[in-house]
Amino acid sequence: MLVSMKDMIVEAKKNHYAVGQFNINSFQWVTAILQAAEKERSPVIIASTDRIVDYLGGLKLIASTTRTIVEEMQITVPVALHLDHGFTVEQCKRAIDAGYSSVMIDGSKYPIEENIKMTQEVVEYARKFGVSVEAEIGSVGGTEDGVVGGIKYADPSECFRIVEETKVDALAAALGSVHGEYKGEPKFAFDLMKEISEGIDIPLALHGGSGIPDHQIIQAIEYGHAKINVNTESNKTWAETVRNILTNDTKLFSPPDILGPGMDAITQVVQEKMRLFGSANRV
Ligand code: 13P
Repeated sequence: MLVSMKDMIVEAKKNHYAVGQFNINSFQWVTAILQAAEKERSPVIIASTDRIVDYLGGLKLIASTTRTIVEEMQITVPVALHLDHGFTVEQCKRAIDAGYSSVMIDGSKYPIEENIKMTQEVVEYARKFGVSVEAEIGSVGGTEDGVVGGIKYADPSECFRIVEETKVDALAAALGSVHGEYKGEPKFAFDLMKEISEGIDIPLALHGGSGIPDHQIIQAIEYGHAKINVNTESNKTWAETVRNILTNDTKLFSPPDILGPGMDAITQVVQEKMRLFGSANRV
C-alpha cells in the first residue's frame, strides 16, 4: 500500500529529523530504495520527476509497478509515491488518478498569484483522495533532467501567503540548494530559512539534497526541513559502479552481473542518507 507523505513528514518535523525523497530512474531504483528503507526501518518517499514519466512508461505504469513491488517485497515501512516537479495542474490530477499518493505542483516560475491558484486547485483535488501536496517558491538552481537554471531565493512573505492560502502539506522554499552537482559548498540563506520556518507550521522540503555537507543538512533539518530530495548521488554511484564493471571485464554481458551491483550501490547510498537524515529506526 502507498500512503500520503503528510503523516511521515509531520512526525519527522516534530522529532527533528527528515524523510528522504529518492528519485527513480528505472524500476530497479524502486527495488533498491525499498530494500534500503526496509533494512533501515525508515519511512520513504519514492519519486518520479514529471520530466521522466514518459521515459519510464507513463504515470499508470509507474504507480501500479511501484505498488506491486511494495507488495512483492512485503515492505513493512510506510512508502509514499510522489510526483516530483509536477508542471501542470492537469498532470498532478492525472498522477492522483493513476495512484500516486503525493504530488508536487511546481508553479514557481509563475507570478505568485498564479502559483497560489494552481496550488489551490491541486490541493482541492488531492484532498478527496487523501493525497499530500508540495508547492514551491523561488527556484532551485542547477540541472534537472537536462534543464539548467539559476537560484532565485524564496521570498518569506510569498512563502507565508502560499501556505496560508492553499493549506499545502510541504513547501519547497529555494534557499540556496541546486539540483545536480555543487561547485564548492552550497550558499544557503540560513537567516531566511529560519525566518520562513518560524513563520509556517508545515515542514519545508529541501531540493538538491546531493552533495550537501553533513553540517548543512543538520542545520537545514533544525530550521524546519523534514523532507530532503536525493537523486544525483544515487545516479553517480550507480554509473560509477556499472562503468567499472564494464571496463574491468569487457567480455561481460549478463545483465544481472552488470546491473545487480549498480542496484546494491543505490541501496548503500540511500541507507547512508537515511541514517544522516535521522529517519532510520523510526518504524
Ligand atoms: P539532486 O539531484 O541534486 O539530489 O536533487 C534531487 C531533487 O531535488 C529532486 O527534486
